[in-house]
Amino acid sequence: MATDLFRSIPSVDRLLQHLEQDASLTGIPRTLIKELVNAYLEEIRNAIRRGSVENEHELEPRALLPDLTLYIRKRSRPRFRRVLNATGVVVHTNLGRSLLAQEAVEAMKTACTGYSNLEFDLETGQRGSRYDLVQDLLCELSGAEAALVVNNNAAAVLLVLNTLAQGGEVIVSRGELVEIGGSFRIPEVMERSGAVLREVGATNRTHPADYERAIGPETAALLKAHTSNYRIVGFHKEVDASELAAIAKDRDLPVIEDLGSGNLLRFPGALGQEEPTVQDTVAKGVSVICFSGDKLLGGPQAGIILGKERYIRRIQANPLNRALRIDKMTLAALESTLRLYKDPEAAQEKIPTLEMICASESSLRNRAAGLARKIRKTLGKKFRVETAKGTSRVGGGASPTLALPTHLVRLIPRGDAPDLETLRRRLLDTNPPLVGRVEDDALCLDPRTLRRLEAKDLVAALQQAVHNGGNHT
Ligand SMILES: *Cc1c(COP(=O)(O)O)cnc(C)c1O
Repeated sequence: MATDLFRSIPSVDRLLQHLEQDASLTGIPRTLIKELVNAYLEEIRNAIRRGSVENEHELEPRALLPDLTLYIRKRSRPRFRRVLNATGVVVHTNLGRSLLAQEAVEAMKTACTGYSNLEFDLETGQRGSRYDLVQDLLCELSGAEAALVVNNNAAAVLLVLNTLAQGGEVIVSRGELVEIGGSFRIPEVMERSGAVLREVGATNRTHPADYERAIGPETAALLKAHTSNYRIVGFHKEVDASELAAIAKDRDLPVIEDLGSGNLLRFPGALGQEEPTVQDTVAKGVSVICFSGDKLLGGPQAGIILGKERYIRRIQANPLNRALRIDKMTLAALESTLRLYKDPEAAQEKIPTLEMICASESSLRNRAAGLARKIRKTLGKKFRVETAKGTSRVGGGASPTLALPTHLVRLIPRGDAPDLETLRRRLLDTNPPLVGRVEDDALCLDPRTLRRLEAKDLVAALQQAVHNGGNHT
């Protein structure tokens, strides 16, 4: 019986002939299609061995082709894919952090489709410096004397410490020995930089005198790190950057502050109170400040270093800087993002991260209602669809305890709809995949982190997940 079934498997060539007419496979190299057909037939043989193929009609090309086409499309698509973020976490590190403003996207395109003055001075026709392209803007916006950009903020911290403190001691409060996701820990970066960590204070309280007592001939710098992803509450004291600057000044030591997120805009409400602006930190007299380009700033991945000219020049001259350097597309996106900040209102409208964080509750309520209507229209039989108040998060290690009020769409499966866990899993395999939150027996979708044009894609993803197990490309 099984032997007959094996004989009924169509030949690779026959299947290829059918597939040639399939427009949905256009652009996929023939050799790859052939490879995948072979792999698919191997799976069919295994299915026969397992006894899960019952008769030869199941093996006719007509019967196999829909599944085979899907199999090929799925395995030949890029691994890097767009995802719908309905989690309500704006700076979602796992989903790519910040989306760029249209202006920044255009600038990137220009930078990579033609030659540019990346390291070419258009006034003299001589060699120029890539760092000059954003330094003036950064200084103008922050009030700092000098600025430098590198690949990301982790690189910035490493480079700053290596330049200013290699072989010396860096004094840090025990309450600020931060670990952020992806294995970045202040003590470990410090060790790699060649500096020796000198911890002071207690986990919950550190006083100016703790720093003063620790300063000695070995001291190279004082470091402050923003407690990005946690808060110490209760009986708590930290030493403000301005106090540290005063302590360091008499002894001619640099004060370094790792701001983590780092925003140029003062946010309204509680977020504005929790997240100091870069300008505030510069004004406190901190010698060197560093922060990410793709967290609250809403730009590309980058590490921005700014502060006193004498320190920035040394950091720029460090040979390690060359290994951590920023690329031209990032520079282009960063410059155009920063240019938007010259008009704070325009920045808030055009930079997606800012627009999402600042979205008003009433607009979120309207968007949730609109989304719920669309979902009800196409999938009303499968789910009870309701809207409810909920919370979004800033993410990216900014204000970890702050909840932004939002309105959620809640889907509660009913009838023969897949259960929540199945639905969640299937949605990871739709085109595009959709990531939401499963909370209180419902799939919750937060409109805050969805682009307006994505509503249609979201409904399509839900449909795919419900109707064909998400088996869609
Ligand atoms: C996010 C963060 C970093 C690392 O920044 P990347 O740009 O992700 O490299 C370093 N320090 C703090 C305090 C952070 O919050």
